Amino acid sequence: MSDYTKPALEDLIRTIPDYPKQGIQFRDVTTLIADPVGLRTAIDGLLWPFLKQNVDVVVGIEARGFILGGAVAHELGRGFVPIRKKGKLPGKTIGQDYTLEYGVDTIEIHADAIAPGQRVLLIDDLIATGGTADAGLELLRRSQASVVGAAFIVDLPDLGGSKKLRDKGVLVHSLLSYA
Ligand code: AMP
Repeated sequence: MSDYTKPALEDLIRTIPDYPKQGIQFRDVTTLIADPVGLRTAIDGLLWPFLKQNVDVVVGIEARGFILGGAVAHELGRGFVPIRKKGKLPGKTIGQDYTLEYGVDTIEIHADAIAPGQRVLLIDDLIATGGTADAGLELLRRSQASVVGAAFIVDLPDLGGSKKLRDKGVLVHSLLSYA
C-alpha cells in the first residue's frame, strides 16, 4: 500500500507578497503546474463542469491561460485558440482594451480564429477584477462565439470579477478562492 497523499491545490500555489507592486498578493500557479499531480488535478478540476457541454474550442488568455487551456483542450479532444497581448499575433486581429488589477492593457484574438456559433470555453489562471476575462469575453462576443463558460484555478471574490461575469450570465467555475 502506498503512503502517497495527494497534495491540496492550495498548498501548491505560492503566494508572493508585493509582486508586481506593493500591496498585491501574487498567487503564483507556476509551483502548482510544476507538480505532476497538481497539474492533473487542476486540469481535471477545470474541465469537469464542461464535459457534457459540447465545447467546440478552448480559448486561453496569455500567458498562464495557454498552459492550462492547452491541456484542457487536449483532454477534451478539441483545439486551442490563444488570446494574446497586443502585437503578438501575426494575422488579422480584433482587439479589446481592459483594466488589470495593476495596470491597463490590450488583448487580441485572430479575427478568423472562431467560427460564428462555435461553443467556447474560456480559461485563465486567476480572476481578480474580471477586467481581463471580461475583455476576453467581449472578443468572443465580437467573434460571434457561443460562450459555454469561463474557468479559473483561483478566484479573488473580493475584487468582484467572478460576480461581474455571473451577473452577465456567464457560467464561472473556479477551483479555489482567496478572500
Ligand atoms: P483581473 O483582470 O483583475 O481579473 O486580473 C486577472 C489577470 O491578472 C489574470 O490573467 C492573472 O494572471 C493576473 N492577476 C491579477 N491579479 C493577480 C494576483 N493577485 N495573483 C496572480 N495573478 C494575478
